[in-house]
Amino acid sequence: MIVILKPKTKKGDVDKLINKLESQGVQVHPVDGAEISILGLVGDTTKIDSSSIEACDIVERVMYVQEPFKKANRAFHPDNSIIDVCGRKIGGKEIALIAGPCSVETKEQITLIANEVKKSGAGFLRGGAFKPRTSPYSFQGLGADGLELLKIARKNTGLPIVTEIMSPHYIEKFVQDVDIIQVGARNMQNFDLLKELGTINKPILLKRGLSATIEELLMSAEYIMAGGNEDVILCERGIRTFETYTRNTLDLSAIPAIKKLSHLPVVVDPSHSAGKAWMVDSLSKAAVAVGADGLIIEVHNNPAKALCDGQQSITPASYDKLVSELRLIAEAVGREI
Ligand code: PEP
Ligand code: MN
Repeated sequence: MIVILKPKTKKGDVDKLINKLESQGVQVHPVDGAEISILGLVGDTTKIDSSSIEACDIVERVMYVQEPFKKANRAFHPDNSIIDVCGRKIGGKEIALIAGPCSVETKEQITLIANEVKKSGAGFLRGGAFKPRTSPYSFQGLGADGLELLKIARKNTGLPIVTEIMSPHYIEKFVQDVDIIQVGARNMQNFDLLKELGTINKPILLKRGLSATIEELLMSAEYIMAGGNEDVILCERGIRTFETYTRNTLDLSAIPAIKKLSHLPVVVDPSHSAGKAWMVDSLSKAAVAVGADGLIIEVHNNPAKALCDGQQSITPASYDKLVSELRLIAEAVGREI
């Protein structure tokens, strides 16, 4: 971090500022130029509140020379993080395949889909029980009953389950019942929820907010990691742009960008990105080609009758074909399915 001082500052005022900064655990290196003077801050600057420094009378501007996230930063953790979920690895050579319906609807539906996606090679089962819906009149999910049905499907297939949490109220139950806790796009900046999730010992799938920058996504991961839970998997699920043809715009450039900035695994959700079942195939292939560590895909046995997101759900047969084609792409980029 660099603090640029206003011209003609008094030495006594600069010394006071230096003392204030040093009391926050950083080393301060003053540099006096002919025109301007600056203070170079070395050490852990993550806890320094740049806006309070900028509010000082003698300060012109504060500049970051490093990203404001630390635990999620590749600079402090050069190797890729590999997250262990019930013995399955996310972030290693193998591409993680997470698949299942948008929402858990019935025992038959979730077990049938779980069996189908498992046969095709999926390693994890997704399914929403607590659903964040735009309209309060839309199907809100089966809630705790949905979790019970997911557990039955896990028992039948052995697939670890991934499902969304909406409120800190349910954390204890999710820790008991769920293998990966999903934080949806709408809750990416629910900081109370993120802080609570930082205190538990369970992998978190953190989805990018609807209009969140990559840095904001990584700062949300930082909230969880700062609390001690470093098992965070990031998810690019499309962002809101001026384009309305697709539900969201899949930001493929986010994958190499995140890989450069962070050591955390990144999975892609082509279903919520495009909002169109027929695009899932090409977007999934593109995601693997640019380095995604996994794919979370909505699969439904009867998309036309799905209670949620049928328009973007692919059938088990399409999923099967997609996975077999993805194997070739994975191999071409040095990965495995
Ligand atoms: C979901 O995965 O079920 C979901 C609601 O996704 P998002 O939070 O990305 O909209
Ligand atoms: Mn959905």
